[in-house]
Amino acid sequence: MLADHIGVPQLRDLASRSEQIVDIVDIRDMSRVGDLLHSAKGSSLDNPAGKLNVEVGFHGGMQGSPEISLKVSGMLAISCQRCLGLLERPVDLDFHLVVVESDSDLDNIAEPYDAVVAGEHGVQLVKVIEDELLASLPLAPVHEDTDDCIADKNLLNKEQDEDQAEEVNRPFSELASLMGESPKSDPKDKTN
Ligand SMILES: [Zn+2]
Repeated sequence: MLADHIGVPQLRDLASRSEQIVDIVDIRDMSRVGDLLHSAKGSSLDNPAGKLNVEVGFHGGMQGSPEISLKVSGMLAISCQRCLGLLERPVDLDFHLVVVESDSDLDNIAEPYDAVVAGEHGVQLVKVIEDELLASLPLAPVHEDTDDCIADKNLLNKEQDEDQAEEVNRPFSELASLMGESPKSDPKDKTN
């Protein structure tokens, strides 16, 4: 059902019966989200994080167009764009769309509603969910808690190494400050 192309007449029919659907969508069926998945965990067959729970409601719209409400929940196992480690992101989407037949109908939709154009092939709910899911993700998802981010740990180690390197270099910095002081004594020499 979620992968089917649903035309506007069929949506009107579903809306007239206030149809509700509860289903599960496999994240691997969404190629664009699939690219973000963590290679080891996100794409494994028996991973519960690879599935999202979907609740769909069909409504007759006040504006004459059928409307769809969608709730999507679950867990995304994606790759952190900083350390490439596993990043588990809860998914909790709740949105409402107006379905119009063509681009020209978009002008008739009042501002507060998001609209999707069915076109001649109809609406594919899995695509609508994928669009919304991608829109909810940051451009480059990274671990928010830096303790989880392996890249940050590497960076921290590197900073500590640099601190130690600075310690070794201290004699030179002292030498540099000594050299820096010497021009100051020149005016004194002139006054004397
Ligand atoms: Zn990370």
